[in-house]
Amino acid sequence: SLSHKLIRKSARPRSTTGHTVLVTGAAGFVGTHVSLSLQRRGDGVLGLDNFNHYYDPTLKRARQKILEKAGVFIVEGDINDKGLLQQLFDAVLFTHVMHLAAQAGVRYAMQNPGSYVHSNIAGFVNLLEVSKSANPQPAIIWASSSSVYGLNSRVPFSEKDRTDQPASLYAATKKAGEEIAHTYNHIYGLSITGLRFFTVYGPWGRPDMAYFFFTKDIMKGKTITVYESPDKGSVARDFTYIDDIVKGCLGALDTAKKSTGSGGKKRGPAQLRIFNLGNTSPVPVSRLVSILEKILKVKAKKKVVPLPRNGDVEFTHANITLAMTELGYKPTTDLEAGLKKFVRWYLSFYSGSKKKSSCYFNKIATAAMC
Ligand code: NAD
Repeated sequence: SLSHKLIRKSARPRSTTGHTVLVTGAAGFVGTHVSLSLQRRGDGVLGLDNFNHYYDPTLKRARQKILEKAGVFIVEGDINDKGLLQQLFDAVLFTHVMHLAAQAGVRYAMQNPGSYVHSNIAGFVNLLEVSKSANPQPAIIWASSSSVYGLNSRVPFSEKDRTDQPASLYAATKKAGEEIAHTYNHIYGLSITGLRFFTVYGPWGRPDMAYFFFTKDIMKGKTITVYESPDKGSVARDFTYIDDIVKGCLGALDTAKKSTGSGGKKRGPAQLRIFNLGNTSPVPVSRLVSILEKILKVKAKKKVVPLPRNGDVEFTHANITLAMTELGYKPTTDLEAGLKKFVRWYLSFYSGSKKKSSCYFNKIATAAMC
């Protein structure tokens, strides 16, 4: 096939670190930043993405261009395509899989529930099936979500807290992913690390997320809707800046142990880990809006309404002690500083200054791009 030929010729990942990483969802927000950081430090990287139209595909294509310039090739295909995955694993010996492809977003699940089952459950199983049969088996690092805490009201959320009350189908599929991971670890000795991201934001971010469409709507003078919970005031999120998330992902990759192979009996149990990657600093959405007003120098037109049952939870707040101890994770960007960088990118990207907008990747990548 075309992709196989392309991999054999020019796009074969080259590694100077001993890591060769398959990044799924590489044209996505987090996937692009992670791929660039891995590439910059010398890991071999091959991307995979189906470029679906959940949000503006031109944004995904623009990210792809940046990656290609940096030497990261993205194979266009679906994680449900077992034949394609098999070809990739036959062509390249992956030491790690950074699995970031998913159907994201909680509200869209009410419109298209099948896409969550397809990508987050069936696709994940497919990827694990191919990974468990690879020789050597790669270590898997994948994105779960803070949404697994669901209606749990004990804050801050710690990894041991209950996750049996998902508020959305999205959350349910991420929780299912964690349980599926358990079985592949148990039976096949796969080393698997799940990362529960907390509301990631930043340059090249996702247009379906509030900070992004608030920026757009405030600038256009459109009324924005802010949700309020009856007893707790404005809905709050533990917003986490993309560069901090990237460091957490790399920390997880660098501390991942090798898979032990089928059964995992002889060499001891394979690693199975789960970490919160958050910012430990929940911010009410009303405060998010006032920071954006300050940065944009525009007063927002707001409509405050009670939180509907649309899959959103009232509050997220990460306890990150475990990730700090085990991964060396330490978020450093506060919301105002991070939003300034987002807005600067947003303005340059949508004013057509593609060259300048490429400068807003994380610091490691910036050196190469600017
Ligand atoms: P994103 O939508 O920007 O990236 C996901 C990418 O995966 C997209 O480019 C999409 O085209 C691709 N993709 C989707 N389904 C696919 C499939 N079946 N086959 C191949 N490619 C497919 O989202 P993101 O914000 O970069 O999220 C990355 C991961 O982190 C996802 O697993 C998401 O659920 C998780 N996550 C994100 C956040 C956040 O705040 N951004 C929070 C918690 C968890």
